[in-house]
Amino acid sequence: MSLSNTKPLILICGAGLGGLMAALALLKKGYPVKLFEQASALGDVGAGIQMSANGSRLIFEMGLGKELMSIACIPTGKEIRLWSSGKAWPLFDLGTESVERYGFPYVMVHRADLHAILVKAVQILSPDCIVLNAKGVSFEEKENVVTLQLDNGERHHGAALIGSDGVHSKIRQQLIGNDSPVFTGCMAWRGLIPTNSLPEHLQRRVGVNWVGPGRHVVHYPIRRGELVNFVGIVEKDSWQIESWNQMGTKEECTEDFKGWNDDIHTLIANIQTPYKWALMGREPLKHWSKGVVSLLGDACHPTLPFLAQGAMMALEDGIVLARCIERDQNDIESALIRYANVRLERTNQIVIGSTENAKRFHNPKLRDLEGANEYVNSEWTIEKINARYNWLFEYDATKVDLGN
Ligand SMILES: Cc1cc2nc3c(=O)[nH]c(=O)nc-3n(C[C@H](O)[C@H](O)[C@H](O)COP(=O)(O)OP(=O)(O)OC[C@H]3O[C@@H](n4cnc5c(N)ncnc54)[C@H](O)[C@@H]3O)c2cc1C
Repeated sequence: MSLSNTKPLILICGAGLGGLMAALALLKKGYPVKLFEQASALGDVGAGIQMSANGSRLIFEMGLGKELMSIACIPTGKEIRLWSSGKAWPLFDLGTESVERYGFPYVMVHRADLHAILVKAVQILSPDCIVLNAKGVSFEEKENVVTLQLDNGERHHGAALIGSDGVHSKIRQQLIGNDSPVFTGCMAWRGLIPTNSLPEHLQRRVGVNWVGPGRHVVHYPIRRGELVNFVGIVEKDSWQIESWNQMGTKEECTEDFKGWNDDIHTLIANIQTPYKWALMGREPLKHWSKGVVSLLGDACHPTLPFLAQGAMMALEDGIVLARCIERDQNDIESALIRYANVRLERTNQIVIGSTENAKRFHNPKLRDLEGANEYVNSEWTIEKINARYNWLFEYDATKVDLGN
């Protein structure tokens, strides 16, 4: 690893999973990095993340495989269950199969645990890299020098600025224009459940996707199996709030799943604190790099979480970005254009595929057992499952062609 000081300073705004991965990949290539985060502490934010092989491979490639496996839960597989009777259909095997097929495991983690691993890895390479209480508000670009303005009045100069500041990105707002995120028509209930509070049959190490008309539930074990992550998605007409930590009540959540199988209500009853979350979306972009400024993760391609790929895309972005900056090292502007070009098609397809999965999971045909049998047997055939997921899981951001 080269630590030459002649490499230009890269500024990154937003220390989520994407910003951290970009910082780590750039630091490993010898680039100095400053990563600005609005929060006052890097705390225990978020809930479960399902990490398919395209994401876990990147953590392993960064030399953090052992750390990942110490916080993860490896499920044996995934299954579909019907909202009413609870009938189960196998979706795919995950345990050994993911490693055999894609070279890396499918793991389930707490976002905060994964975040902590990345923070530590960044701080080992560059102890002062992450700056807290540092909210980016705007930027200026002059003769290939970009200046990030923070809300505390500080100004920082660099050779590039990457906005990884999430779905409400300030950097995006200035770079692309004022296209506010719109409510997708779905809200999410999120909560964590201590595994040992559940009956044995709900403690199995599988990812379960309950499907039903107008709503669905996903639950899976995280943190070595000590917790179960619960996500309940409900179609709603309107919503005003979007945050990681809007608290709701178990009563409201129970009401949203009225008539659903008893197992769902057992899960809800054991949630520690139920949080409500509006799922916001934006029209896919045609490009997101201008001059020496670019975006990554939810700042440029927010998605419904129905392919479980939002965080995976942010990690992939970070790796491809660092590779492009290294490749066009004397021309950051070209590097950022190359980076967005490499990432556009895949990320747009994931956004579209996630929306299509919502229609599948919430299909009215799931209302009764007969319709559900017919629908599940036609929509979740091996061929269709492979077509929906193989291209996602086999992608290797460390090797993908960067073009000429
Ligand atoms: C219900 C649900 C379930 C999900 N499940 C999965 C899953 O199973 N698998 C998966 O891959 N993805 C999943 N996702 C998606 C995933 O959580 C996001 O796509 C991912 O976290 C995006 O990462 P990011 O780094 O782009 O943004 P974020 O994680 O949002 O991070 C942005 C960071 O920027 C900071 N910030 C914001 N504004 C500023 C500013 N102005 N200045 C400085 N800092 C700022 C924030 O504090 C934050 O730290 C799910 C999402 C939801 C809602």
